[in-house]
Amino acid sequence: MEFRRVGTSGLRVSEIVFGNWLTMDGQIDQDAQVACIQAALDAGITTFDTADVYSGGLAEEVLGRALRGVRRSSVEIATKLCLPVGDGPNDRGLSRKHVMESCHTSLRRLGTDYVDLYQAHRFDEDTPLEETMRAFADLVRQGKVLYVGVSEWTAEQIVRGHALAAELGVPLISNQPQYSMLWRVIKAEVVPASERLGLGQLVFSPVAQGVLTGKYAPGGRAPEGSRATDERGSRFVGRYMADAVLEKVQALRPLADEAGLSMAQLAVAWTLQNPNVAGAVIGASRPAQVAENAAAAGVELSDDLLKRIDDTLGDL
Ligand code: NDP
Repeated sequence: MEFRRVGTSGLRVSEIVFGNWLTMDGQIDQDAQVACIQAALDAGITTFDTADVYSGGLAEEVLGRALRGVRRSSVEIATKLCLPVGDGPNDRGLSRKHVMESCHTSLRRLGTDYVDLYQAHRFDEDTPLEETMRAFADLVRQGKVLYVGVSEWTAEQIVRGHALAAELGVPLISNQPQYSMLWRVIKAEVVPASERLGLGQLVFSPVAQGVLTGKYAPGGRAPEGSRATDERGSRFVGRYMADAVLEKVQALRPLADEAGLSMAQLAVAWTLQNPNVAGAVIGASRPAQVAENAAAAGVELSDDLLKRIDDTLGDL
């Protein structure tokens, strides 16, 4: 495994980060999920990403269970809050009340005294940003949170958040956006703003939820047990399933072969060629997928190959 600093902070994360979002929502059972986390540890992954909202909190519990017995200082645990976790008026968002309560609940589920990275899953238009940052500052002072991050914030929101964080002594070090060969929106504004402010990106869905592995043939039936055949998962992966996209993805296969990589490895390695990316947050439904994708750490893609990937995919 290779490691990178998150932005200009001192925190190092594994280039491959393991996340346990959708798979915990019924696609695979808890034992299978624990097996994937064990495969991540076996592959040298030290950084794990989850959220209070994943599977109603079960994902945090399973991660905590899987990491029991692992030396706490040898792993980095990241979780998130903001999306609705209940029907109550304060069961969502970034109010001081919800930040404090959600953090305490996450720590209990994870079975740990602190999280390494606490991320605002989305921006909350209804709460003053200063209230949120003060709550984060208090959690940091209490030692319950070591670093703070955001997820899917715009460049403008990151700039505002960073200014307050600096004023209040909050170590705001990361953003977690979607980023893959098929989803590049952060390149225009989020990455330049983050670079300027010293934030790194922990990018999610690097294989576009399985599409960039090449396993979905245009016009064909999705393989049994894949996310596209899962009732909930298909709603998310569906956005990439147009035949025109799948055809272009198939055209990447010779490029992966030439580089001696699987298509999944090519896709994960592609995200890591962006120097502002600290880690690629992968998901998996089977331990073998974790082992395969983790091997993308440390892979360098030539400029020529990167250009041919762009030429192959064109404007998507
Ligand atoms: P990926 O793009 O890595 O997709 C993972 C899925 O693709 C797997 O579950 C598997 O699905 C399939 N897959 C992966 N590798 C292979 C392989 N080698 N061969 C065949 N199929 C493969 O990321 P996710 O979309 O799962 O997201 C990863 C993590 O990112 C989440 O767990 C979460 O931690 C984070 N995330 C954060 C979000 C945010 O808003 N901050 C939003 C979304 C994710 P299958 O086998 O079922 O087809």
